[in-house]
Amino acid sequence: MHAKKRLLIVTHTAGFRHSDSIERGEKILAALGARSGHFEVEYCRTADDVRKMLTPEFLNAGKFDGVVFLNTTGDIGIPDLGAFLAWLQQGKAFIGIHAAADTYHNRPEYLEMLQGEFAYHGRQTTVEAKVEQPDHPAVAHLAPAWVVFDEIYLFKENNRRNVTVLLSMDRHPDDGTPNAGKPGDYLLAWCREYGNGRVFYTALGHRLDVWDSEEYQRHLLGGILWALRLQERGAVKL
Ligand SMILES: [Zn+2]
Repeated sequence: MHAKKRLLIVTHTAGFRHSDSIERGEKILAALGARSGHFEVEYCRTADDVRKMLTPEFLNAGKFDGVVFLNTTGDIGIPDLGAFLAWLQQGKAFIGIHAAADTYHNRPEYLEMLQGEFAYHGRQTTVEAKVEQPDHPAVAHLAPAWVVFDEIYLFKENNRRNVTVLLSMDRHPDDGTPNAGKPGDYLLAWCREYGNGRVFYTALGHRLDVWDSEEYQRHLLGGILWALRLQERGAVKL
């Protein structure tokens, strides 16, 4: 039996705050860790917490294996962002959820790590998310596609060339914005190697009923286990 991994859940917001899904998400991530037996969590909630906790010294002293940016927004005030990103590249896990891509618009090095910068969303809508990697733990249970109702993010650039795409749409969401319904290539979830570390990002995670669904919880758990190098392929169980 291996020791449990440790994840720091970061929920500080300098912009819009998803109060409900942050509160629900904190509980669900803790429960996923406990039920799977694979990881335990601690929380980093305030500007003071960020200043104190998101440093290599604190993260190493606390034996953290990775961080989850759970609907963070804006410039959250990491004291030395370069040092934090270097810590990730030493073999740690970064899990970004929904507004993690609405974070640090002012820092290209963060956006390069994440490979996604939120541009806009329209009204909440149902989309068909196609599974591109049917053997990946984050999406194997969803193959071949997942029909989901949520607030759907659109990104400033399509970074397909830089990532392994997990979920995508072949038309713009029908969200009332100018491109609604038009054919195209729109990414919803992806992963990548980052130095010796790993990054998993999902754009989904606005609505509470998405958080509460088995499909989404297995999506997150699979992404987390992959980023922690605990599972390379196949669907995860809840
Ligand atoms: Zn949202």
